Amino acid sequence: MTELPARRLLLVHAHPDDESINNGVTMARYAAEGAHVTLVTCTLGERGEVIPPGLAHLTGAALGEHRLGELTAAMRALGVEDFRLLGGPGRFTDSGMMGLSDNDDPDCLWQADVDRAAALLVEVIREVRPQVLVTYDPDGGYGHPDHIQAHRIAMRAAELAAEAGCPIAKVYWNRVPRPVAERAFARLDDDLPGLPFAKAAGVEDVPGVVGEERITAEIRGDGTAYAGAKAAAMRAHATQITLAEPYFALSNELAQPVFTTEYYEQVRGERAVVDGRESDLFAGIGEAS
Ligand SMILES: [Zn+2]
Repeated sequence: MTELPARRLLLVHAHPDDESINNGVTMARYAAEGAHVTLVTCTLGERGEVIPPGLAHLTGAALGEHRLGELTAAMRALGVEDFRLLGGPGRFTDSGMMGLSDNDDPDCLWQADVDRAAALLVEVIREVRPQVLVTYDPDGGYGHPDHIQAHRIAMRAAELAAEAGCPIAKVYWNRVPRPVAERAFARLDDDLPGLPFAKAAGVEDVPGVVGEERITAEIRGDGTAYAGAKAAAMRAHATQITLAEPYFALSNELAQPVFTTEYYEQVRGERAVVDGRESDLFAGIGEAS
């Protein structure tokens, strides 16, 4: 077996684009620093709404295939070589928004047995032996069934992997501190007349917003090449994202800020920094592990 780098980071996401929006700076930084970065995406986002009119004909499996191409381009922008679909492309399909009949599709992620899906992720964990896992909070950040299910699968896989003798030292959830979101939206409201978006989203539309006291780590990208890589990765997801830096919109066309500092709440493992925030998700992890 080929030797893996000393530091290994695993991220678990629901759809292509979530990784770039939530963790683009973090992924670019650790890839550039020589860590092994593994992205596991659970679905190809076949039920996503397509923004560019010229691509509106793409639906279902054709959209999934197109989005895999977007994901590939985004990973090139972030310098990440190891990205996979949970169980292989098309194993689990997009569940659509909560409450739609799409949620009942037997092939969709929402209908997946969590233990069986987690077993597929355990295979990846046993192969790359990550010290750090990043995923969503129990609400999936904002309640999308695929995000909730990705959270459950990731957390269950961490448990199963530990039982199998392959523990993950630290687990983090994606977060945004409420005051940071509030300040960003206040700026956005001032900037809106000059933007290609008619309306602004609100703080409540940002996944994972919590009080500042919950934040245990922040990865700063402001003014670095990592912020540029994040923007390029977001732009690669053209069916899903319209970028007008430092803002973007999804298919609902509501403007929101691009966060070039990414925030995390550590929920498993020992905290390396007790007063204040870590600036490195690998803090406290020895080289030998
Ligand atoms: Zn998503």
